[in-house]
Amino acid sequence: MEFMTAAEIRAKYGVLKEIVGGGWLRLKPGQVTDDTEMSLCVARAVVAANGWSREGIAANFAAWLRSKPVDVGDTCRRGIRNYMLKGELETPYNQWDAGNGACMRMLPVSLCTLGDDRLLARCAVEQAHITHNHPFSDAACIYLGKLVHLAVLGYSKTRLRRELEGLLTSHENFRFEPYRGLASGYVVDTLQTVFHYFFTARDFEDCLIKVVNQGGDADTTGAIAGMLAGAYYGEENIPRRWLKKMDRKVVDEVSLLAERLVTLSPWAAARLSAPTAGA
Ligand code: MN
Ligand code: MN
Repeated sequence: MEFMTAAEIRAKYGVLKEIVGGGWLRLKPGQVTDDTEMSLCVARAVVAANGWSREGIAANFAAWLRSKPVDVGDTCRRGIRNYMLKGELETPYNQWDAGNGACMRMLPVSLCTLGDDRLLARCAVEQAHITHNHPFSDAACIYLGKLVHLAVLGYSKTRLRRELEGLLTSHENFRFEPYRGLASGYVVDTLQTVFHYFFTARDFEDCLIKVVNQGGDADTTGAIAGMLAGAYYGEENIPRRWLKKMDRKVVDEVSLLAERLVTLSPWAAARLSAPTAGA
């Protein structure tokens, strides 16, 4: 429920545990918006190019904007229009660009750079700067991408927590303990919310329910928590009743693209070229 407060959600739904649709965009239950659509733009561009393609991503964003999407963030719109008008792949630094719009589409970047931290950092910033040019947004993209790497590779929460601890020494403002309860579209608030609930939750469902019921920019905190908790707990731990509410075509495309993206990663390349035992 994007843009409701936690108290408003409690008054209307108690604890919201189901996909109900509605909200300010009057969505159908399970209907996806910009967070998913922009991630698909990134994923499709990389898969189509068989590797990283900043131009492909920008072109997909432009086509998506022309398709009159149900929702577009202001910063995203401005960045994409800048690309459409001037062909520029990097929007200039802007003090107001510390929103979560670049971070919310990090999953495909993280998957296709699996196994290479430097590539992750470069690609994270390149895709981010098409629309958002701010050090907090850049840091958020890289931190999230790194945690998703570790989660996909099967590392423990303790290991993820330790990694994050190291990363946060360069951006102390992302510290999330004690949790301040802010879940706005400001990327620092967004990631504090995601980190707090991810590290304290029992499982995927518990994490998502707690994040979304915190309100604020709930579709985006939910998308980012879903990215991290999904990478950590795996597809089989997503509640079936939620998957059933989703558009089947979107679910199928997301799983197919996710597999293809991992196949393109340095991690997969290293496994393919590794000498087989006994050969
Ligand atoms: Mn959205
Ligand atoms: Mn949002």
